[in-house]
Amino acid sequence: MHPFTVIFVIALLAHLLVAAWLSRRQVASVLRHRATIPEGFEAAVNPDEHAKAADYSAARQRLGNLETIYDAGVVLVLTLGGGIAALGAWSASVAGTGVWGGTVHLLAVFAAMSVLGLPFSVYRTFVLEQRFGFNRTGPRTFVADLLKGWLLGLVLGGAVAAVVLWIMARAGSSWWIAGWLAWLGFSLLATWAWPRLIAPLFNRFTLLEDASLRARIDALLARCDFHAKAIYVMDGSRRSAHGNAYFTGLGREKRIVFFDTLLSSLGPVQIESVLAHELAHFKLRHIPQRLAVGAAMSFAGFAVLGWLSAQDWFYASLGVPSRSDSAALLLFLLIAPAFTWIVSPLFAAWSRRHEYEADAFAARHSDAHALSEALVKLYKDNATTLTPDPIYSAFYDSHPPPAARIARLRAFRAAPATP
Ligand SMILES: [Zn+2]
Repeated sequence: MHPFTVIFVIALLAHLLVAAWLSRRQVASVLRHRATIPEGFEAAVNPDEHAKAADYSAARQRLGNLETIYDAGVVLVLTLGGGIAALGAWSASVAGTGVWGGTVHLLAVFAAMSVLGLPFSVYRTFVLEQRFGFNRTGPRTFVADLLKGWLLGLVLGGAVAAVVLWIMARAGSSWWIAGWLAWLGFSLLATWAWPRLIAPLFNRFTLLEDASLRARIDALLARCDFHAKAIYVMDGSRRSAHGNAYFTGLGREKRIVFFDTLLSSLGPVQIESVLAHELAHFKLRHIPQRLAVGAAMSFAGFAVLGWLSAQDWFYASLGVPSRSDSAALLLFLLIAPAFTWIVSPLFAAWSRRHEYEADAFAARHSDAHALSEALVKLYKDNATTLTPDPIYSAFYDSHPPPAARIARLRAFRAAPATP
């Protein structure tokens, strides 16, 4: 057996063990506090709501844990089990071994993964979310979403695959630099196209009509010297009762999008404070920092892939007997998560710092009290656990634990910063 086979299997198993251990801790912490509402939340959350959040968090956690194990099994079957090799032989027989055949190979493997993942997505939507009263997706919408997603994957995924494979075939041993530039270009294009062309395939976007809310938001934007192209309301309630707000787009073309579910559950000052938080991610340059780190990471990824793709052992040790560009891409994409999970706590910690900074910005430019009220309301509406396990939270969570976050906002209120 090749040493890299052993390294890969150990990394994969280590991930499963750590994930299972953290998940157990999380479920235990959530259920241990099921009957006691944490201090400071008693007025806003009743015992039934608190217990529901505990049950929902535990159920999601258990399903997620099962899915992690299942996904690892799928990766093993596709790599060491010979799935990538078999689909490669099939694609070569129908479309040859050139760029076109490689594209068919990539699409076939992703189609297989998508079909294999389907039971979990069906169960999540129609059993888990349904049981806790969040699901509003009917079977028709579910199937339509699935078909649209597959069509997009076929067209966009196929285009990206073909371009990268073409570069690999033509650009020689340093193909990975051109490959990375193409990847960056595609990411920028996707950022531009997402709000204009792709998101409207799945949801309806209408301009925010509420004049007084609009005036309040315009005042906030002016106060923060921020330019947004338009404010939209999205019909998120078509699929789920969960609420959210976000910005999309680049430069002066930024759009603000509110889920209708968020607008219906929060008051005007609360909405303003949530928007101030989102806006802070731009004003404090969190978004460009994340983009820059993402670009640097993908550069490192392409460099590693460029090197691996030229090593015969890379293919042989992962169940692919003969070299091909499409197999290199597939193996890399499938095995990378078995290694990258080790650094995910760093990114989670970085993200949590940004969240605190954005809260502080919102407290200065809007209303700390309204933001803490809004967050508690959203925790309650989304059945977010108020009592996560500290180690689990430090490892995975992109947002700070509710108690810590609310405590900081309340401290702000007690001692407001000088303007
Ligand atoms: Zn945020």
